[in-house]
Amino acid sequence: MIVGSGLFGSVFAHEAKKLNKTSLIVEKRLHIGGNVYTEAIEGINVHKYGAHIFHTSNKKVWDYLNRFAEFNRYTNSPIANYKGEIYNLPFNMNTFNRMWGVVTPEEAKLKIEEERLKYKTENPENLERQAISLVGFDIYEKLIKGYTEKQWGRPCKDLPAFIINRLPVRFSYDNNYFNSLYQGIPLGGYTALVENLLEGIEIRLGTDYLENKKELDSLAEKVIYTGPIDAYFYYSLGALEYRSVRFETEIIDKENFQGNAVVNFTDAETPYTRIIEHKHFEFGAQPKTVISREYSAEWKKGDEPYYPVNDKKNNELYLRYKDLADRERRVVFGGRLGEYRYYDMDKVVEKALEVAEREL
Ligand SMILES: Cc1cc2nc3c(=O)[nH]c(=O)nc-3n(C[C@H](O)[C@H](O)[C@H](O)COP(=O)(O)OP(=O)(O)OC[C@H]3O[C@@H](n4cnc5c(N)ncnc54)[C@H](O)[C@@H]3O)c2cc1C
Repeated sequence: MIVGSGLFGSVFAHEAKKLNKTSLIVEKRLHIGGNVYTEAIEGINVHKYGAHIFHTSNKKVWDYLNRFAEFNRYTNSPIANYKGEIYNLPFNMNTFNRMWGVVTPEEAKLKIEEERLKYKTENPENLERQAISLVGFDIYEKLIKGYTEKQWGRPCKDLPAFIINRLPVRFSYDNNYFNSLYQGIPLGGYTALVENLLEGIEIRLGTDYLENKKELDSLAEKVIYTGPIDAYFYYSLGALEYRSVRFETEIIDKENFQGNAVVNFTDAETPYTRIIEHKHFEFGAQPKTVISREYSAEWKKGDEPYYPVNDKKNNELYLRYKDLADRERRVVFGGRLGEYRYYDMDKVVEKALEVAEREL
């Protein structure tokens, strides 16, 4: 019994089938793929649960997924829009040149050092002081402050410094956001990739495992559970917390809306944090375009769980649930919800392959 058809459940199911094991996937949503699900709108693959850019340095994982989809050459190069001023991300020579007119890495380093000395405090006590001491006032003011405050719903002065202990700062004109060896988007979208993984495997969509547990458990020797760990135990120790995101998706009667897949709006006044223009992930030339505005949202029980809040309180609660989970002899808990941690896609595939090897 495999609960959830996200990447974890789908990779596990594929590996089980290879070894002639029969599995049944139950998925409470009406589609497969979990959060990497893409839906075709106006011929464009729309990332329904947030933009997903595949990147990895793990050759084994890269080769594995390339058996189920061909990946394009998409390279993530987000831009920041601060009140109409455009900057490249991550912070690099293009950003520094636009901000201060500096041309060489030496000039950029000098400028940042000057700013550091001006604002440095021995122990930056909050995110604002920390950011200023790392990259100076201008970058903090235009590219960090508004965006971070929208993300966390609190002033940077009230946020702990450790959130940005390290800021990616690059002294080259390289706009590639990731340092990974391999990067791309599966041609035809992630749903097609997951369909290929799940070829020949029985799936029941629109079925909540926990609501049909008794009947479903009687069908299986072993359960791979990729839903929320606290839900499995009916929240008996309390609910784990998440940060949520709200998406407003719109079809626009234009070929090209913003010229880039990802644009961050870094001022405080624009209510959303980013606009994703989905067609640019696949170099689409459709006559229309689809965009999603992303709003950071407080999470409450019943909302879509997106990012686990791995602070002390929640990590301790997770460990208590894990203790209970370890005592469930027939059940393996896996994936981002089953383990209550943020996993990039490559890490989830790596983990599912590891668990499959161990369990099968
Ligand atoms: C906003 C956002 C953006 C991201 N962007 C990137 C990115 O750019 N690059 C990257 O590498 N990673 C990205 N990720 C991470 C990526 O989404 C995860 O690595 C991946 O989706 C995890 O797969 P999973 O199978 O563990 O979980 P999921 O995809 O969540 O799958 C779990 C499935 O279980 C189902 N389920 C839960 N409970 C039950 C139940 N009781 N009964 C039946 N079914 C159930 C759910 O409906 C879901 O389909 C992003 C994550 C988020 C939140």
